[in-house]
Amino acid sequence: MVKKKQNPYHINYKEGIVENCLLQIRNTGCCDDPRVKNVWTVDIRARDSQQFIEFIRLNIQSNDPVSFQHIKRIKKGEESGVLTVIVCSKLLIEEQDDFLLLMKDAPFEYYNANDHSAVPTAAPSTKELSLKWSALYWPLVWRGNPNDQIMNDYVFDMAFIRNTLTTLSKVSLDQAEKNASDPPVVSAFVSPNGRRVIYSTDSRCSTSPLDHSIMQGIRSVAASEHERQAKNCDQAEETYLCLNFDVYTTHEPCSMCSMALIHSRIKRCIFLQPMRNTGALESQSGDKYCMHNNHALNSKYEVFRWLGSEYPVPEVNSDICC
Ligand SMILES: [Zn+2]
Repeated sequence: MVKKKQNPYHINYKEGIVENCLLQIRNTGCCDDPRVKNVWTVDIRARDSQQFIEFIRLNIQSNDPVSFQHIKRIKKGEESGVLTVIVCSKLLIEEQDDFLLLMKDAPFEYYNANDHSAVPTAAPSTKELSLKWSALYWPLVWRGNPNDQIMNDYVFDMAFIRNTLTTLSKVSLDQAEKNASDPPVVSAFVSPNGRRVIYSTDSRCSTSPLDHSIMQGIRSVAASEHERQAKNCDQAEETYLCLNFDVYTTHEPCSMCSMALIHSRIKRCIFLQPMRNTGALESQSGDKYCMHNNHALNSKYEVFRWLGSEYPVPEVNSDICC
């Protein structure tokens, strides 16, 4: 975790811009959704609070899918000397019998076990919202805007990014000149160590209508992986195809391609040209899916759009899915 002042990059936290040129693409529509979930609570005596905290640390904390970092686990109970405490989320333990089984080993007395309380699983983005949700649901802790920390933890190789975008722009302009039928959409798939860079172009008119450049790129990564394993007789276990890859692309991907990137478990996508009608990443684009940061999906990736005009790409018709 990098402290704001020590961050080597220039970050505009308010606008979400890194080094004045990479705009963080977020699902702004869901920022104020608390995504409330029920939790198991019990009442304990105030003098047992240390034992409760130790019990949680040993038995629950690392397993619970809900992070309670922005939630106070302990609040005052209705009677004096009594505390109401959150043991775990219902996502971790669904059935009452299982919950009671867990509590059998608790080194403190407890009363009134129930799953009636609901807490916001999303961390609020402003102090005002934190106060509002505390009053509405359950007391929260305000630790500053959670997105500031997300931005702080990003790592960029700016020289590599610029080089890759230079190539994308060049190949895309060449493609437009040579080939009038396929859209001049070009992508680059970069392996996590940066050693393998696979470029792909769109060939929907020459091959199949589904051969968008991202789909072609995923296929090329698969072929290259297959070849590598065959050569090394590598019995590497099956894993997600593009796990932790960075994907660069000239035009904002469509819903099919951005979903395929979810399934491939990429780390980051950087694109040049927003596609307002057909794109599926920006919150103003297409059907406003924000596919990379959609809470209905079980995986996410980072997305940035390059601001500025150093890397021109040919226009494609606004109704074309890229
Ligand atoms: Zn596409």
